[in-house]
Amino acid sequence: MNELTVSSLGFPRIGENREWKKTLEAFWAGQISEDTFIREMTEIRLGALRRQKEKGVELIPVGDFTFYDHMLDLAAMFGQVPERYGYAGGKVSLATYFAMARGNSAAPACEMTKWFNTNYHYIVPEIGAFVPALAENRPLELYLEAKRELGIDGKPVLIGPCTFVKLSKGYDPANYAAIVERFLPLYGQMLAELQQAGARWVQLDEPLLVATLSDGEMKLLTHAYEYLANTAPGLSIMLQTYFDAVERYEEVSKLPVAGIGLDFVHGGKANLENLQRHGFPHDKVLGVGIIDGRNIWRANLSAKLQLLQAIAAIVPFKRQIIQPSCSLLHVPISLRKEANMDGGLRNALSFAEEKLDELQVLAAAIRNGADTVAASLRASAEALNKLAHSPARNQLAKDAPKARNVPNHRGTPYEVRQKLQRQKWSLPLLPTTTIGSFPQTPEVRKARNLWRKGEWSKEQYDQFIREQIKEWIALQEEIGLDVLVHGEFERTDMVEYFGEKLAGFAFTQNGWVQSYGSRCVKPPIIYGDVKFAAPMTVAESAYAQQLTAKPVKGMLTGPVTILNWSFVRDDLPRKEVAWQIALALRNEIKALEDAGIEMIQVDEPALREGLPLKRADWDQYLAWAGEAFRVTTSSVKETTQIHTHMCYGEFHDIIEAISSLDADVISIETSRSHGELISSFAANTYDKGIGLGVYDIHSPRVPDKEEMVHMIERALSVLPSHKLWINPDCGLKTRGKTETVAALNIMVQAATEVRARLQK
Ligand code: GLN
Ligand code: ZN
Repeated sequence: MNELTVSSLGFPRIGENREWKKTLEAFWAGQISEDTFIREMTEIRLGALRRQKEKGVELIPVGDFTFYDHMLDLAAMFGQVPERYGYAGGKVSLATYFAMARGNSAAPACEMTKWFNTNYHYIVPEIGAFVPALAENRPLELYLEAKRELGIDGKPVLIGPCTFVKLSKGYDPANYAAIVERFLPLYGQMLAELQQAGARWVQLDEPLLVATLSDGEMKLLTHAYEYLANTAPGLSIMLQTYFDAVERYEEVSKLPVAGIGLDFVHGGKANLENLQRHGFPHDKVLGVGIIDGRNIWRANLSAKLQLLQAIAAIVPFKRQIIQPSCSLLHVPISLRKEANMDGGLRNALSFAEEKLDELQVLAAAIRNGADTVAASLRASAEALNKLAHSPARNQLAKDAPKARNVPNHRGTPYEVRQKLQRQKWSLPLLPTTTIGSFPQTPEVRKARNLWRKGEWSKEQYDQFIREQIKEWIALQEEIGLDVLVHGEFERTDMVEYFGEKLAGFAFTQNGWVQSYGSRCVKPPIIYGDVKFAAPMTVAESAYAQQLTAKPVKGMLTGPVTILNWSFVRDDLPRKEVAWQIALALRNEIKALEDAGIEMIQVDEPALREGLPLKRADWDQYLAWAGEAFRVTTSSVKETTQIHTHMCYGEFHDIIEAISSLDADVISIETSRSHGELISSFAANTYDKGIGLGVYDIHSPRVPDKEEMVHMIERALSVLPSHKLWINPDCGLKTRGKTETVAALNIMVQAATEVRARLQK
């Protein structure tokens, strides 16, 4: 008998109909009581466990469920509540928990940031003055609940100590080891209590192990796991990694844990090579991440079987636990609701539940022989084959070689362009502008719904959009902005809008994934060759330009952002897809230029988050990402001014790559980081235009003029005035109209004041 075990690393929390989101938001709005909230949440949590049980998962994860975020859960369990929330120890109340997540009237929220290279955002724990204490053992409660309610002997899942502390803030990184040390007894206590309650396995996630580890970090890790293994010797620890290959495999594989979980999809090649080269300890279980937890394609099961066989040459099946490559949090729940999708495409997809089915097929093939599941193996191969040969994927074959010869840099160097552009545009010093979108009021959303439901004709809707543009062009003129925008009223989402108009994209009806808190997104699926069909933004931009003598900036989402915020076909390297998008957008830029729009912004807010986890892979990514941007933008006349916008994130380590985009102007966040970014641009002597985000658009608060003046002057102390532009730090679509007009008026006043001083 080839026995092996089937497990999973985590399941989507949001519920098949986003019940989770609805329950949370109803609770926040005060529409349901805390009791009702807890009851409904328990239902959703048990529902997910039941589902996994039905799908044949033998070792079912518990404790991955949360009311908001799993990092926040740990912080709360350890009593790591920043002082500003007035916490006095003990179990953290729901009110405090949500205050940390979302802020309250007295204190702003904790920072939120991207979970590794995914689009999931976690709350950044602040390790504070509070001596950590175990305020609550949630994994234990959830373990007992699953056993009691559903007879499930689950596998509690939590982030391991080294990753938890690494991703937290509020301490001097030089004290990293000492801080981990402080948390070890709490982890130990949790594990000991789990062991006592009869748990067999616990999964400790240490995705940190796929990044470059120093000797000190490796030593700390060894110490931490020796400690934990000794504290709960009867509990098997699965040390789980994902998203890439483990660094320092030889040392990691020798850690004193019962199992090591590796990703055989992302970084799978290197993980397999390590396994083959260095072997795997005979007393350990291998967690085999075999089904892609990050993407939505059906697996080629025959190929997966071969891979499992190759692994079995080193680790026999009885010591393998087969599982998705990471938590299924990153994919939608089920294909059941996708009835409207093209059959060929739908058939080639696999969401969370279907991925669990795929694991079952693999397990059955190993246990009972591949012939017992021959039909399933054939079906997966056929579905993928059909998609591979579909016309949608074979459009560009003959165009590709020709397309590759398009220039990927501008013909004129920046210094020369800059002079010509200054003459052409004759803008004042410190020109003022905005990032693109204006408030998407309920009125705008209602109009779009009427049109989508067919109650409004296309003409009616277009007319409505034109009225919005007209109103806002007049408002911008009144405010006195120097470079105007049309306002993006026709766009719901900056990727979806373009995806719907380009060939090669598909959209789900219910393919939601959690982005942060209750916010879910429905990423487009890039399944075919991306091609330009017809102009996408020209009508709105040209209409706006016709209403004013001031320049109107055209507005596009860049190729790297479109790529990073979509589920992308995996039969081509990502750079090829980025490149296809770039070629399509290049046509759009041409169309804008032909229509007289000669200042064009190409947004790349997601460029930085696409950085690979391993530093050694950065250069390659930045090279092709930069090339995609330049392919998009480099065909323009030398007097056409290309802008780009990036939101938050640290830029100092990629400043050269940003400079190599060769955009004439970049607008960046500066208000929340209090100008820290500016110094990295200054220190690196960035030679092109920089738009300063002088106020934070994430808050309804209207800042005062002095704050903005101060921000501008700080920038002027390190950067010459002719490089600077003045703008809010991001698009304004989530803001109200009144506060937006008020803030922009103040922004223009601040710029005018500083400008006058400079000209004296
Ligand atoms: N142009 C976009 C907007 O203003 C940019 C959004 C973003 O950076 N995320 O909405
Ligand atoms: Zn932004």
